Amino acid sequence: MKESRKHPYDELLASYSAGSLPLSQALCISTHLEHCPDCTRKLRRLNRVGSELMQQLQPAPATDALKQRLLDRLDTLTDTPAPAVAEAAPEASIPRALRQFVKKGYQDLSWRSVSANIQTVELCRDSNGARVELLKIKPGGSAVTHTHLGDEYTVVLEGSFSDEDGLYAQGDFVLRGKNEAHRPVATQDRECICLAVTEGPIQFTGLFSRLLNPFIRRSYA
Ligand SMILES: [Zn+2]
Repeated sequence: MKESRKHPYDELLASYSAGSLPLSQALCISTHLEHCPDCTRKLRRLNRVGSELMQQLQPAPATDALKQRLLDRLDTLTDTPAPAVAEAAPEASIPRALRQFVKKGYQDLSWRSVSANIQTVELCRDSNGARVELLKIKPGGSAVTHTHLGDEYTVVLEGSFSDEDGLYAQGDFVLRGKNEAHRPVATQDRECICLAVTEGPIQFTGLFSRLLNPFIRRSYA
């Protein structure tokens, strides 16, 4: 059993600070940050270093074409009108980063069963093809052992789950690399809801793998 890590690596936080992460990964980091004062402090330091580096750069003169593009852009901007009716506020437990997708509460989403223990709802697809979804695992329920053809990012939103490497609670960030087989199991006390970003189709490694994998891959095409 290797050490379980519940926070993003520094490299990932640095890319987040530089604004260079794909949207799907940035969503996971933002959600984790809302629960993690340590990573929030680290990010503030990174932001400070980034802005000091920017100040050391020599400004390049703006071309006329660039100025014109900026003016054209300003012309197209309009004030966003205030909504006529105030929308129902989302439940306080919904991370701010996810409120654009979860308008009220998790239970109001259109969950789809993928097995007796697991339900899922897709929130969006990233431009790099990554799937952003929520997973809901019944108390004590488990997912099938699987690996991935890409990385998998998970942030625990409600409840907790364990796998071969440890126990993960609300706010914990888990990154599984390609081909790292694992089998998450929700704890017995309550259902577990996670934010999950998968960058490639999952690969089941159990008994029915040869039967299932071609179908899963097709759903990513
Ligand atoms: Zn953290």
